Amino acid sequence: MNAFHSLPMTSIAATVADVLGIEPPRQAEPAIGWLADLLKDKADGKASRAVMYNPDAVAMWLVQNYTGEFAPVFRHTQAAVPLKTVAPAVTPVCFASMYTGTQPSVHGVKKGEKPVVATDSLFDALIRAGKRAAIVAVDGSSMSKIYAGKALDYYFPPYDEEVAQKALELIEQDRYDFISVYTQSYDDAMHLTGTESAVALEAMRSQIRIFEQLALAAEKYYRAHSTLLCFCTDHGVHTKETGGGTHGEEIPEDMNIMHFFGIQPAGL
Ligand SMILES: [Zn+2]
Repeated sequence: MNAFHSLPMTSIAATVADVLGIEPPRQAEPAIGWLADLLKDKADGKASRAVMYNPDAVAMWLVQNYTGEFAPVFRHTQAAVPLKTVAPAVTPVCFASMYTGTQPSVHGVKKGEKPVVATDSLFDALIRAGKRAAIVAVDGSSMSKIYAGKALDYYFPPYDEEVAQKALELIEQDRYDFISVYTQSYDDAMHLTGTESAVALEAMRSQIRIFEQLALAAEKYYRAHSTLLCFCTDHGVHTKETGGGTHGEEIPEDMNIMHFFGIQPAGL
């Protein structure tokens, strides 16, 4: 038995592109065909809106140990897909892989630095297809930096709550075909207080609540569209011998993640 999940997280960029009916990023690894087909089927062909929510560090084992807490995520999605993220499992490396569909050896981000990624990404693919896209991310975060300088709109509020508010506002205004939303309070809390501290678990719940709010807003304001909803974390976490939380090692706790995908069909 392999303790690591078999499907690579690098298949997500092409999968999302396929569901949106656009060409994948140029160097992206192949899409997960059955997943794209399932979602396209549900969308009656393709999705014309997408909200890609990226909560930081929501490990697979959190979904396993606290499954009931994830009920709002299950409620708004139809597919929960176990994936293996890339090594080293640190934030900018993982998000560079998630949106380019490539390994770190291709996109070149190999540690916890935040350079602008030169490799073709889902954002570039969206722009080429004439889609209007935005990144809403915590100021100073990896997602606020590594895809800078593109024909996108960028919103970098100070922290999760303001990120969520801004994303909800943008959904209500229906100004974009694709919105990427990044929040980080679970990652911050678990580094400071441990992976299962009361504070960290409350932060985990807050990430789930943000997804629920985004899904409900999409349900309300994207009624004319088939909408793809994604809950896609970057990496897992583990507990150090000294008790605090961390990540970045090539072990199942850090590498195994679960991504959730759902379609809200038009007109429901
Ligand atoms: Zn992270």
